[in-house]
Amino acid sequence: MSFERIIGQQRVISILTRAIKNQRLPHAFLFHGPEGVGKEAVAFELAKALFCQEDLIYCDHCRDCTRVSQLSHPDMIVVFPAPKQPKNEELQSVVQSIVKNPYYRTMPWATPSILIDVIRNIKKTVSMTSYENKGRVIIFLDAHRMTTEAANSLLKILEEPLGKTTLILISSQMNLLLPTIVSRCQQLRFDPLHWKDIETALIEREQVSPEQAKIFSRISFGNYRKALELLDENINDRQDLMIDILRKVLLPDQEILLLVEQLVAQEDKKSIKDLLQFMLVWFRDALVLDLLPAKEDFMEKIVNINRLDLLQKFIAEICIWFRANRL
Ligand SMILES: [Zn+2]
Repeated sequence: MSFERIIGQQRVISILTRAIKNQRLPHAFLFHGPEGVGKEAVAFELAKALFCQEDLIYCDHCRDCTRVSQLSHPDMIVVFPAPKQPKNEELQSVVQSIVKNPYYRTMPWATPSILIDVIRNIKKTVSMTSYENKGRVIIFLDAHRMTTEAANSLLKILEEPLGKTTLILISSQMNLLLPTIVSRCQQLRFDPLHWKDIETALIEREQVSPEQAKIFSRISFGNYRKALELLDENINDRQDLMIDILRKVLLPDQEILLLVEQLVAQEDKKSIKDLLQFMLVWFRDALVLDLLPAKEDFMEKIVNINRLDLLQKFIAEICIWFRANRL
């Protein structure tokens, strides 16, 4: 079945399936929406549909489909941000990470861009016929990281007839793209994934235990890439740190300031952001647990089920704190 590697995104899949069946695909797409929701994965599956000769949509096992999965199809170009002179090993590590899992990508560089030289090379390529005469697909990952020069150059490609070339621009920050580029593409919006879809994918694809999948899927807030990144973290340590911080928040002001200073010195921006997301889910759990009638089965509804005792203590403590502070 086509698009079966895709997590959720039924609306996007049905739009694309209809367009493929009716042979009404535009020459340029803009897939936009938050990170980690499968825009890249859908782009590769769409490329299969454009090359595959064996099925109405695509078969996912013929030579063409396999070469798209391996990112080795001669008529598929995948552009991603990189520095001016990247090392070959670094480029290969990015490509291999995408081949391994199109929902994930390593990023060896701090602030890479899509540079004008890359677009110039693409211009040359699209002026020639494709290798296998089945058309060509060019996928731009993080299209918003194009330099202004590169974007202006791409605009010229978009304005000229492209023959059998399909461009797929992918961006989680569409506002950074030139409006003239946006207006020349057919836009397709991707929504955050449902936590249930992420939970199922983690269990089925990553062999994560149901208890852990439950926590990771909620804390990733619809971002499957984020959920995959969280797999490397020790969830119990993060929960303990978060609970410790919340306890200290109930202390006098000066101690909170010391704690904040300590945290900023020890943790990077990303892990502080993660910690805040853990807190959000913790507060959500506290609310749910406090509001649910005692007899109702709350096991299904609580995320931090492995810390149920602490959660109950936290609710009791916070009630005392609110009363003491007359809130
Ligand atoms: Zn195929």
